[in-house]
Amino acid sequence: MSDSPPREPVIELVTVGHELLLGHTVDTNSAYAGQRLAAAGVRVVRRTSVGDDPADIADAVAGALARTGRVLTTGGLGPTRDDITKVVVGELLGLPLEFNTVVWDDLLARWQRIGREPSASNRTQAMVPRGATVLPNRWGTAPGLWIPSATGVVIMLPGVPFEMRNLLDHEVIPRLAERAGGVIRSHTLRTAGVPESILAEQVDSLEAELAPLSLAYLPDVAGVDLRLTAWNLPPDEADTRLAAGVAALRRRAAPWIYGEEDDDLAAVLFDAARTTGHRLAVAESCTGGLLGGRITAVAGSSEVFVGGVIAYADAAKTELLGVPAGLMAAHGAVSAEVAEAMVRGVAARTGADLAISITGVAGPGGGTDAKPVGTVWFGVLCRGEVETVRVGFPGTRPEIRARAVQAALFGLWRRIRGDGPLAGGTTV
Ligand code: AMP
Ligand code: MG
Repeated sequence: MSDSPPREPVIELVTVGHELLLGHTVDTNSAYAGQRLAAAGVRVVRRTSVGDDPADIADAVAGALARTGRVLTTGGLGPTRDDITKVVVGELLGLPLEFNTVVWDDLLARWQRIGREPSASNRTQAMVPRGATVLPNRWGTAPGLWIPSATGVVIMLPGVPFEMRNLLDHEVIPRLAERAGGVIRSHTLRTAGVPESILAEQVDSLEAELAPLSLAYLPDVAGVDLRLTAWNLPPDEADTRLAAGVAALRRRAAPWIYGEEDDDLAAVLFDAARTTGHRLAVAESCTGGLLGGRITAVAGSSEVFVGGVIAYADAAKTELLGVPAGLMAAHGAVSAEVAEAMVRGVAARTGADLAISITGVAGPGGGTDAKPVGTVWFGVLCRGEVETVRVGFPGTRPEIRARAVQAALFGLWRRIRGDGPLAGGTTV
């Protein structure tokens, strides 16, 4: 499911520069503008990137104006030969470029402060389409332009991200927000341990209750994020509706929600384990240390995390964790029995009272009919008791490993909260 269709006011973005098309420069301007404009209640409905080519720039801007009557361009405002956006847009709108003394004086003062003379090419930066409002650029030399015309408004900003961001925030957004009258606000709930389809079964029937908010499912190896969005509502109404919507979602998806916005599950687990006074250890086979890495990435994790063992080969499982060789011969290394022996082994050696083991088939080879690629056994030990669970993960080797780590973090967190182990067969 995607977010709801756009309502007014809308805008299109056109980013200009060969380097964007060649992939030498990543178009961060579009991402930033998308976020900031949405927050101000203006929805970006399309974005286009074109090279420094007059016909392509004219085509992109004309198309955007015809569709939405409002376009924001970035790039091509500098003093060099390839900076042609202003000339092209002036021609497109039938507005001749005129020398603007305010811009020029400002440029002269700027050059004077650094003890240099402007070059002839800098004069082009003071040329402005007739009727344009100059958006003063305190962060660089090329001013932004706000150009009203019969076919709509063209807003032009320089490409340098620092200048573009400042002009957008200080000059453009306030002007647009005055006209918008509403805001776009979102709230994200993070889930793990549940596939999108099962989550949707729980949550879809809320849709009528959530309206006019829209709900988006954003699946990833870390789980499925639920993002609720209020489009273009008055700020107070957006906040009230979002709070009610989030509460309703929390009730429906309670077993799987571990956090919100950009919460990290490892940090959530760390907070819970610190509160309950657990000492945590891990025994990893197919994840090769990724779980320990996630946990120790959390600042202060030594308060909770004792350590772990990466026991990849069978011999290492025996030598480092005391898994009997006969157990592996009888059941295979990917089995409930070995997962249990691994977790007991690491707990005994580290003194941890909370521990998890992971042993699985990450692929792409090594799968069998009984244990296909993606089969992972976990052993969770909490205060002496061990539960084992088998999960089948989809995806490539890196995805299976990442999902297994997330499932382990989620299983530990649920165990601390007394929610029981991971349900068999769930994917993350
Ligand atoms: P310009 O205004 O086209 O002369 O671009 C100035 C600088 O900003 C160049 O280094 C560009 O690579 C960079 N730039 C231009 N457009 C973008 C964009 N959309 N995202 C990130 N950087 C950009
Ligand atoms: Mg450029």
